[in-house]
Amino acid sequence: MTAATPTAPPLSATRLGVDAARQAIFGHIRPLDGWEEVTVHAALGRVLATDVIAPCNVPAHDNSAMDGYAVRHADLAGQDETCLRVVGHAFAGRPFSGIVGPGQAVRIMTGAEIPQGADTIVVQEATRSSADQVWIPHGQQAGQHLRRAGEDLCLGGVAVAAGKRCGPAELGLIASLGIASVRVRRRLRVAFFSTGDEIASIGKPLGPGQIYDSNRYTLHGSLRLLGCELIDMGVIEDRPETLEQAFLDASRNADVIITSGGVSVGEADFIREMMSRLGEIAFWRLDIKPGRPMAFGRIGETWVFGLPGNPVAVMVTFYQFVKDALLTLSGVDPLPPAARFPARCTSPIRKRPGRREFLRGIFTPSADGMTVSATGAQGSGILKSMSDANCLIVLPEEQADVQSGDTVMIQPFEGLF
Ligand code: AMP
Ligand code: MG
Repeated sequence: MTAATPTAPPLSATRLGVDAARQAIFGHIRPLDGWEEVTVHAALGRVLATDVIAPCNVPAHDNSAMDGYAVRHADLAGQDETCLRVVGHAFAGRPFSGIVGPGQAVRIMTGAEIPQGADTIVVQEATRSSADQVWIPHGQQAGQHLRRAGEDLCLGGVAVAAGKRCGPAELGLIASLGIASVRVRRRLRVAFFSTGDEIASIGKPLGPGQIYDSNRYTLHGSLRLLGCELIDMGVIEDRPETLEQAFLDASRNADVIITSGGVSVGEADFIREMMSRLGEIAFWRLDIKPGRPMAFGRIGETWVFGLPGNPVAVMVTFYQFVKDALLTLSGVDPLPPAARFPARCTSPIRKRPGRREFLRGIFTPSADGMTVSATGAQGSGILKSMSDANCLIVLPEEQADVQSGDTVMIQPFEGLF
């Protein structure tokens, strides 16, 4: 959807597999420009715009990995234990300033710089000592229990590469280099709204036939966790004029628009029509359950995801398509692979081959591996079973009925959201 035409003709309902739809999306989107400088604290969840280069070695000096004695390995030649004279102490942050000579040892603590002359650490528990002497048993390895300068990060090396989304480990790593601020990609601005005359916002009494909006809140949560800047546009009624105005406003202010509902073929479903009128659209009947209808396209420079209306379908399509698209637009490279692992299914599941199905499941570690069971009712409007679940059971296109005891693949929620 760059200069090229969309992958599907605007208003035809092309059937597409999940992988093909992902390819179509990722064939179009590229990371957005723009960056800012932020403190290490504020870098949590942000994507590095440039490599972080180590301005020093970490650790800065060879140091001891254990509490014990710093010795010269050459002194320990004999088959018996060796008696050495203890000539001083080395603490972390308070090095021993002398030189360890032949027949000498220095009492050393974890993290203390290795004194000049010493090349080996003997752990305290292996020794006997008196006021100024220590007895070292034979069999010590030369160079043991030393942490070498630059072992963690080497001066001039790439400590964290551009494209990495900073988690706790990256914050610590950057701080360990003494770096106070980093250059990160700007946040994505994501506008989102719910559609439907029956959808009411919380805080208002329900009219006849109305239901409270849940999609805008799941989307709010998902987008917040991804570190996006949110533009919550509320609920938009099923009227072409109002929807058109909402799309135009959103496309002026946001990098991405996410809508829910109104994307099917019902008489009040105007999303596709609006998207193709105002921009370009690829609309798919996806071979997926839940979440069959989905639109992807753009209005001007703004990408648009028209998600289905059913609350579980919104979450499933968000996590199978939109999340990685947003991460890619944010500059994350490479995308982290989706965690999937096998589990033994403890209940039968009915399934017809032909589409990829995502069931809400509960996995439990057991002595002989992981087991999983579906949460029960799998209607695409039943959000409670999403809350009860801790994983999605992913049944591939070709899969038919699952028998109790069969192995299935699961996608744990931890790390997915
Ligand atoms: P639609 O595709 O607009 O026909 O929506 C499909 C189903 O999802 C309908 O039962 C809608 O009432 C429901 N739905 C649509 N939007 C929302 C929403 N924001 N919150 C909860 N349910 C919704
Ligand atoms: Mg609707």
